[in-house]
Amino acid sequence: MYSGMTPKALEWKIKIKKFVNDELIPWEVHAEKNEGELPKDIEKKHREIAISFGLPGMGITKESGGLGLTMFEQMIIWEQLGRVTNALCWCFSEAQDWMEENFNDYQKEHYLQPLLKGIKKECYAITEKGAGSDVEGSIETTAEKKGDQYIINGEKWYVTSANLADFFFLQAKIKSGPNKDKNALFIIDKNVEGIELIDTPKFSHTYAHHHSIYRFNNVSVAEKNIIGNEGMGMDFTHSWFRHERLGIAARCCGAAERLIDEVTEFAKERVSFGDKIANYQAIQFMLADSVNELASTRLMLYEICKAHDAKQDVKILHGKCSMIKLMASEMANRVADRSVQIFGGRGYMRDNVAERYYRELRVDRIWEGTSEIHRIIIANSLYKRGLQSLIE
Ligand SMILES: Cc1cc2nc3c(=O)[nH]c(=O)nc-3n(C[C@H](O)[C@H](O)[C@H](O)COP(=O)(O)OP(=O)(O)OC[C@H]3O[C@@H](n4cnc5c(N)ncnc54)[C@H](O)[C@@H]3O)c2cc1C
Repeated sequence: MYSGMTPKALEWKIKIKKFVNDELIPWEVHAEKNEGELPKDIEKKHREIAISFGLPGMGITKESGGLGLTMFEQMIIWEQLGRVTNALCWCFSEAQDWMEENFNDYQKEHYLQPLLKGIKKECYAITEKGAGSDVEGSIETTAEKKGDQYIINGEKWYVTSANLADFFFLQAKIKSGPNKDKNALFIIDKNVEGIELIDTPKFSHTYAHHHSIYRFNNVSVAEKNIIGNEGMGMDFTHSWFRHERLGIAARCCGAAERLIDEVTEFAKERVSFGDKIANYQAIQFMLADSVNELASTRLMLYEICKAHDAKQDVKILHGKCSMIKLMASEMANRVADRSVQIFGGRGYMRDNVAERYYRELRVDRIWEGTSEIHRIIIANSLYKRGLQSLIE
């Protein structure tokens, strides 16, 4: 349906689809029944395959050791990876283009290159108890310059994958000096003194990646570990947000595709009142709505990726990333809800793909900005830059 598909992107799609179907999907139910965990040798195998494909550096230039893929090609990959539940596709860490552009030499050697090789893993700590949606205005974690060190104090909530990570990206406010109250982004090794694990709450999904709460008590960070300069923190975080929002949208499309595929097969087999349920219009309408919503969302995703690759103005892209994150996450949740309904009682069982997605996709309407916040971003972009900038 999409006229802009390229042979290279199609090649990636086929390759990743096979990886997901052959290696990852067969382990979903095991993960669901074991707190998200896989046998160590299987986890290692998945990581090794992902690294052998070069996935940790898909958006990093070839000169820096990455694959140099376009955003469109990257999202074709993430779309396929979204076809597996239980976060089994998070079997590798991903370096992003803004890291390559903004890390200093020390950071490139000690963090970017190990990320690309799959030796180190990152996590991103911005949210706090009182700073969620209003993250920029309400952050209370401070960074105080003392000699060639920054002293970090504060508490970070829901730090995804921190249990498996080697270092944090941490957003803090500068405590004093000419840049007082400005934002800054730091890289902090997880093993340094003063980092305290406060709690590991349980969430709706069953992932080996936790979303824990950490306190930073007088944690000393070398000056060379600030990314860019004081005051630039939010710029990098916005770059991270844009990338993650596209990734979420792509995975939501992949999830919807898997759900429609599986539930259609079921509807064609399941007999009720002497006929296949696929022959009842009530079922057909739910499937048709899901197909239509997926098809239109995917086209929008691909076009926004192409706008990214064409280096459209970053402020317009920011609004477009909100548009597709909102659109895809809401779409995938509706598809999951309908799929549970079509599966009937089976759709409420944890070994059913629809049941797992029904729980897992819910957070896509919350993290990386709630649906309400994305509507606000879109409306603000509409007021400032006009309708044509968003729909062309
Ligand atoms: C499983 C999980 C993993 C996460 N991982 C990470 C992570 O790795 N790193 C990280 O830093 N954060 C992470 N987060 C945090 C996540 O990004 C926030 O939860 C999210 O941004 C919302 O913030 P909040 O939970 O504080 O909600 P709040 O900001 O308290 O919002 C509560 C409600 O009010 C609404 N609301 C708020 N302001 C407005 C407004 N102006 N107009 C209309 N409605 C409004 C919201 O939409 C929401 O419905 C994670 C969260 C979860 C649940």
